[in-house]
Amino acid sequence: MTDLTREATGTIAESTMTDFEIKNLRVSVEGREILKGISLGISKGQVHAVMGPNGSGKSTLSHTLMGHPNYKVTGGEVLFKGQNILLLPTEQRAKLGLFLALQYPVVVPGITMSNFLRTALNAKRGYDGKDKSKAISPKEFRALLKDEMAVLRMDDSFLPRYVNEGFSGGEKKRAEILQMAILKPEIAILDETDSGLDIDSIKFVSEAVNRMRGPGLGVLIITHYTRVLKFITPDFVHVLVNGEFVLSGGPEVADRLEAKGYSEWVKESPTKEVK
Ligand code: ADP
Ligand code: MG
Repeated sequence: MTDLTREATGTIAESTMTDFEIKNLRVSVEGREILKGISLGISKGQVHAVMGPNGSGKSTLSHTLMGHPNYKVTGGEVLFKGQNILLLPTEQRAKLGLFLALQYPVVVPGITMSNFLRTALNAKRGYDGKDKSKAISPKEFRALLKDEMAVLRMDDSFLPRYVNEGFSGGEKKRAEILQMAILKPEIAILDETDSGLDIDSIKFVSEAVNRMRGPGLGVLIITHYTRVLKFITPDFVHVLVNGEFVLSGGPEVADRLEAKGYSEWVKESPTKEVK
């Protein structure tokens, strides 16, 4: 008997449950159903990729997971640490250990990167502005920032800048990766982290994600393109078309998409209007 099966015995009830479980999720935007009952389980230590053509519902999935009010959940649940996170406010989801990097990061004028990072970290630590013992000390925070920025090869000039204001595509992604490195989430969802990036930035972001990979982190990469998956090899690939998963498998699914695109399921053309 292998260690794996030995470990599995006795925990049969749990073995069907992953750490982060999307179950039969249905989502409507402005009265139109976009996600039509999708299910996907992510365990810590795994990297999953959701791939699909434009308009298939990829960003709808990431916005829903983060709790954007425009995305109306009409069915299903998302279980994480014994809770249906869809019922929790966004900051509670983050506090549980969920991290979302959005396709289009927002600009936050007037808030510097370092303030933003410290506030986000303190919120995760449960500091609500009252109990100072929960807040990270300025000294500890500076040391943490310094370490993480050294690993990411980012220079200090980032820190006094306002969040995402005037950042290039590559800088925005680096800022997000830094946020992820500081917050150390258990589940990270990266939406089109590769879009609009030059190849050096893609490599940089991939390297950073690969460094963070490990038994304590589950990753969901959402992307249209196969190119980021050349640098981050996913354990599982799921193809989303028209709000439904049409194919799931190992990394070979990405190779198939690389060769054939999404032509098996949709006719794609650059001018195609997304209905
Ligand atoms: P993807 O990220 O795969 O390109 P999206 O999830 O962004 O796809 O979009 C899926 C569908 O939902 C598209 O038809 C899009 O027009 C629609 N949609 C997404 N967000 C909104 C929104 N905020 N308002 C109206 N329609 C939306
Ligand atoms: Mg998108």
